[in-house]
Amino acid sequence: MSRHRAPSPVTRRGALVAGAAWVAGAFAASSGVGARPPSTATPLSASSEQLTAVQVQDPPPASGQLSATAPPTTSATEAPPSPSQTPSATTSPTPNATNAASSTTALDRSAHSTTDAASPWVVVNKQHPVTPLDYEPAQIVKVAGERVSAAAAPDLEALLQHSRDDGVALTLVSGFRDYEYQAQVHRRSVARNGQAGADRYSARAGHSEHQTGLAVDFSSADGRATLSPRFARTDEGLWLAEHAGGHGWLLRYTEADQAVTGYNPEPWHFRWVGVELTTAMAQAGVATLEEFFGVSGGAQYA
Ligand SMILES: [Zn+2]
Repeated sequence: MSRHRAPSPVTRRGALVAGAAWVAGAFAASSGVGARPPSTATPLSASSEQLTAVQVQDPPPASGQLSATAPPTTSATEAPPSPSQTPSATTSPTPNATNAASSTTALDRSAHSTTDAASPWVVVNKQHPVTPLDYEPAQIVKVAGERVSAAAAPDLEALLQHSRDDGVALTLVSGFRDYEYQAQVHRRSVARNGQAGADRYSARAGHSEHQTGLAVDFSSADGRATLSPRFARTDEGLWLAEHAGGHGWLLRYTEADQAVTGYNPEPWHFRWVGVELTTAMAQAGVATLEEFFGVSGGAQYA
């Protein structure tokens, strides 16, 4: 999303315009966005000292490269200035100007549950497992060979079509994964690496966003950077970072937010939340669901 807005050499003119229009529209829709703090989140007290324990949930890992090969990040607050962001002498701030809820275009943050596994806004992390633990989406459909919740399918189809229109060869390598599959993956990893090692490289069953059917892992047609930190620098990874938000898909595990999410950066893992939320998060300059909704996270299992 907005953390990776540097134009890539592969970005075509049309794509650049479309992506810029999405971000500019998001910012233009909010009056006074530049004047308020970038985040209204509750501080996450449990996570700041746990960086050494951050984990990935999509094996295989490339330990030692996870941080070094990730792209530089820029702050969402460095977005190009627009007239609506320029403080005006004739518009004095109201007492409500620092209140995100009143100064944005009124996204009702309680419109959807953050705990119901079927909700587009559900927050699943190491503090908040999928409930019930053996949850499966009521309706699962196949998109590009992978199973996803029917709720996420239209925006996923649109994103893939957009990428094809831009000449980008995105593929899907993972979608819905059920509890038992994740349990097997983790058990095998524990047998091989011990519990601590397994926890570094795979989510415990019931704690993977993939179980909601609302998360996918992308790759590129050549497959050379599949589930690798290098994916961030591929044409496909760069395109996703710029355009996924415009289709309601959130880059879930960023370099800058490891202490909040509890995961190493995963430039291939995207979570469907709907464009209403990705737009509101861009407006607020908030990159994680945990911060936007004030939900606890971090590397420690509950
Ligand atoms: Zn994933």
